[in-house]
Amino acid sequence: AAEPPKDRQAALYDELVRRNPGESEFHQAAHEVLDSLGPVFAAHPEYAEPGLVERLVEPERQIIFRVPWQDDRGRVQVARGFRVEFNSALGPYKGGLRFHPTVSLGVVKFLGFEQIFKNALTGLGIGGGKGGSDFDPRGRSDAEVMRFCQSFMTELHRHIGEHTDVPAGDIGVGAREIGYLFGQYRRITNRWEAGVLTGKGTAWGGSEGRTAATGYGSVLFAAEMLAARGQDLAGLTASVSGSGNVALYTIEKLSALGAHPVTCSDSQGCVVDEKGIDLELLRTVKEVERGRVSDYAERRGGSARFLPSGSVWDVPVDVAFPSATQNELGADDARALVRGGVRAVSEGANMPCTPEAVRVFQEAGVAFGPGKAANAGGVAVSALEMRQNASRESWGRERVAAELSVTMAGIHRVCHETAERFGRPGDYVTGANIAGFLRVADAMSAQGVV
Ligand code: GLU
Repeated sequence: AAEPPKDRQAALYDELVRRNPGESEFHQAAHEVLDSLGPVFAAHPEYAEPGLVERLVEPERQIIFRVPWQDDRGRVQVARGFRVEFNSALGPYKGGLRFHPTVSLGVVKFLGFEQIFKNALTGLGIGGGKGGSDFDPRGRSDAEVMRFCQSFMTELHRHIGEHTDVPAGDIGVGAREIGYLFGQYRRITNRWEAGVLTGKGTAWGGSEGRTAATGYGSVLFAAEMLAARGQDLAGLTASVSGSGNVALYTIEKLSALGAHPVTCSDSQGCVVDEKGIDLELLRTVKEVERGRVSDYAERRGGSARFLPSGSVWDVPVDVAFPSATQNELGADDARALVRGGVRAVSEGANMPCTPEAVRVFQEAGVAFGPGKAANAGGVAVSALEMRQNASRESWGRERVAAELSVTMAGIHRVCHETAERFGRPGDYVTGANIAGFLRVADAMSAQGVV
């Protein structure tokens, strides 16, 4: 007799925890997806049979390597590098590299697992992977970052390629790092292989609009969720956490669409700016000077307050954009936002809301866009960059922007319709997980046991 779906899901989860001890972020990400699969197992019993999900939760390949490098004082430092090639049923492994001291195998596996479904939702033919290092770029000179990137690529190059695995940026990895990584790949392999990395400079194979894509996409997704409820983003107040690439372009797009972003943050505190964030100043502080948001508050004067121990989620707003890092927004933060009247939450970061926070939003009827749908704009434009590289074309900004809008609207539509079809109208978490799962599962089962 067939196992009832709940027992099957619980057994899969228990086995995953047993086989991957201590990887709490991976457990969390896998739990959320498995938890959504009940209606799928009921409708497609073949996917509940032993085999498919067991393969899906086991990465195809996990690479851990030593990254030795010399700092400016000539001392040898040793970091740990990771690349988890999770699933290639839909295309080459695709996903960013994160350089941050919190990076561990469990963190990379959670990110790689999310990436499988996110990439499937884009419909652009990309598999899922992720990588990075526990190297901390903060306070390091340009030369140190370059030597680190070169050493990282000296190992990574043998595992990647335009048809195999295509890394990009994530936290701590932006245009500068992609440049150093690409240079080393080119030197070692003697190949000008544009499609091996995305997020490249526009003068050497990068796509217009890639840098802005994650933040823009997250705002477009929020606008779609509001439109589905007959509402408009224009005139609404917004809170944004973080001050990296995703946060900056979220703020930019919000302002462009007539909304009022009033916050940003970093690991040392947050800024509330009653007049709205001054994007040019924030950009100078963060991107040119590589400074802190406290410097922004100091220079901005009157309208901005820096709160070293405050939270952006205490500010009452209409829409919220967690765009910093995983588990940054907990149940108490969610309750504060709900009390403040929040209508929509769009995850610009990967898994920034804890499961308890997500439940608070859903029970309060807040439109909640999970990261694997809401922040898919970045990887979607990466896939467009790969397309331009393959045809040796380079598209203009307008064309990329138009494709991004169409892709985000398509992701919203498939999540919305799938949630409805499986009996959870308005639940974008279930919609994204099921729609992503079905695309990957269909491809995996068609390709046999590999
Ligand atoms: N790191 C980004 C993400 O979380 C983008 C990955 C890519 O462009 O490959 O989706």
